[in-house]
Amino acid sequence: MGLTMMAMGEIIRKFIRLFNYKPFKMLNIIMFGAPGAGKGTQAIKIAEKYHLIHTSTGDILRAEIGNKSELGMKAKTFMDKGELVPDAVLVDIIRSVMERNKTAKGLVLDGFPRTLVQAEELDKMLNANHTPVNLVIALETKDEELITRLLKRALETGRADDKEDVIKQRLQVYKNQTEPLIAYYKKQNKFHPVHGIGSIEGIFADICKEIDNLI
Ligand code: ADP
Repeated sequence: MGLTMMAMGEIIRKFIRLFNYKPFKMLNIIMFGAPGAGKGTQAIKIAEKYHLIHTSTGDILRAEIGNKSELGMKAKTFMDKGELVPDAVLVDIIRSVMERNKTAKGLVLDGFPRTLVQAEELDKMLNANHTPVNLVIALETKDEELITRLLKRALETGRADDKEDVIKQRLQVYKNQTEPLIAYYKKQNKFHPVHGIGSIEGIFADICKEIDNLI
């Protein structure tokens, strides 16, 4: 009898782990890395495997530009120069994503946060929802590799900001404004570096190990 109860308890716990990760808590993952590090590619795969909502701020902004909305037109002036769009705009975007996805299993954030202000605002928004940032997956690469990848992407997609001078500016902005987040998340023991050069599947397997260790 005792054994059966224990076995049932174990089955229930496994079930919760498999389908809910943690009762009443979301699984929120930040994809971190320089432009061209592969955040988007891996974020899509993670979202699919763990049933999370993939949120790419770059894609959201490009969609706004495509719709010629006021927000899009404002964002374009920054994006074309390789500069960051103002924090307040991005915080509003993420707030509305969170409001729309309150019952989701979690979020994979790709391209956000990119500044300390954004990271602090994200923590406030998640705290209000009683859910944390669970882990930050940092894709590590080298500048030469990033530039090669982005120039290749320019040929494939014609993205306006994948020109050599704008790419160099984006890398500089990453170093100045986004890299300080490494210390922010290391202090919280949430920072998980993953080697970002190799096959997409190989890198994905390494990322899954980090996630599976946590859930
Ligand atoms: P990448 O990571 O390859 O630079 P993204 O699509 O993530 O590409 O971003 C493209 C541009 O969109 C950035 O250079 C920036 O201008 C703007 N952007 C995206 N996310 C943010 C953010 N969180 N804060 C400010 N600007 C952002």
